[in-house]
Amino acid sequence: MNTCVTCGRELHPERAKKYDYCMSRECQEKNARPLTMVAVGVNKAAEQYMILDERTQEELASGKYHDQRRGLFGTSPASSPSPAPAPAKAPRAAGKARPRPAARTPARPPWSRSQEKLALLYNEQGLRPDEIAAKLGLSRYVVTQIILGARGRGKL
Ligand SMILES: [Zn+2]
Repeated sequence: MNTCVTCGRELHPERAKKYDYCMSRECQEKNARPLTMVAVGVNKAAEQYMILDERTQEELASGKYHDQRRGLFGTSPASSPSPAPAPAKAPRAAGKARPRPAARTPARPPWSRSQEKLALLYNEQGLRPDEIAAKLGLSRYVVTQIILGARGRGKL
């Protein structure tokens, strides 16, 4: 059963497909902010912003990314699978990507989809792997893996 992240009320199944909060005025005001840029907590060293294209919006709507608002209210721990602490203002240490706790997602590579998207975008723009690594707070090795992986899948 889906419930409102703010007040915990039950959500109509149709509404729950698109929203995780109910229609009460208070919850609308708390949750319905315009989402032009979305902070994705992927790395402690760098705050990642991704360009919100249509596909990303769908992914967000389908809950592919951890919704940080959920964590604030703690009403649905079971539906918050990704360990995404709010990125602290840490000194930017390029290449010092800490391995994330991967116990629940063993099949996934140690980078996020948003990092991969950005890395490939920067790569298309002609940035070198070490420049991309610095921007994303990843190691150059990981960036190279992302690019080679995409090439292997025929995406580049
Ligand atoms: Zn509500």
